[in-house]
Amino acid sequence: MLIENRYRSFSVAETIIIDAGHGGRDPGAVYQGRKESDDTLRLALALGDILKRAGYNVVYTRTSDVYNTPYEKAVIGNNSGGDLFVSIHRNSVEQPNTSTGVETLVYKDTGLPGELGRNINAELAKLGFGNRGVIERPGLVVLRRTEMPAVLIEAGFINNEKDNALFDEKLEEIAGAIADGITETLNENDPPSDIFYRVQAGAFASRSNADRLRDKLISEGFPAFTVLRDGLYKVQVGAFRNLENAIRMEQVLRGKGYSTFISSN
Ligand SMILES: [Zn+2]
Repeated sequence: MLIENRYRSFSVAETIIIDAGHGGRDPGAVYQGRKESDDTLRLALALGDILKRAGYNVVYTRTSDVYNTPYEKAVIGNNSGGDLFVSIHRNSVEQPNTSTGVETLVYKDTGLPGELGRNINAELAKLGFGNRGVIERPGLVVLRRTEMPAVLIEAGFINNEKDNALFDEKLEEIAGAIADGITETLNENDPPSDIFYRVQAGAFASRSNADRLRDKLISEGFPAFTVLRDGLYKVQVGAFRNLENAIRMEQVLRGKGYSTFISSN
């Protein structure tokens, strides 16, 4: 589902830090001229685009081919106050084409990081990657020094032709799969929200004008009501726990020619 920019300030958006592994003078693994640092940046930017469209705040540790130490990457994440740290890498083994598949590394395989790793792996497996599981790597700086739950995704092997073909053909889907894994995990772990979304159909200085619009909406079958807020009589439709449902209602109202926007309480 896509959420337009203007809704973002009304949702309780989590901030996801996306770390494109390596960069600049550190290309990471290299296979036949193909640099891990290029692949990780492409995937990181594609993932960030999808997450932003889904209403998340996104912070990148880099958006170009620059070098930061892993420690600096962790500090960028920590200073952003982010909720999740997702580091993107590609795997490599000594002998080309001997290993294949995705794995997700965590500091410790418990709680949210372990669950997030498993959800991401499962989503990526749907695209044809082998699932090598969640692996504990307590020595990695970006996992150890980050203050929020962190995972490091090894998105296939850079020295495996099959993995590279999948990576190149399905870059968008891979980004989407990681985004799905993130959303599933956050939704499962979120406490029920007390925020309600309402679709506002009009705001008036005069109560009678507001009630006229309210009555028209009610006569068309919409659950409309008038509230006095900030000195204006506002006509609102519904109270939705899920933003998606508010958006659906807004689309129906717009289809009938109402000019609307979504507010939260
Ligand atoms: Zn790497």
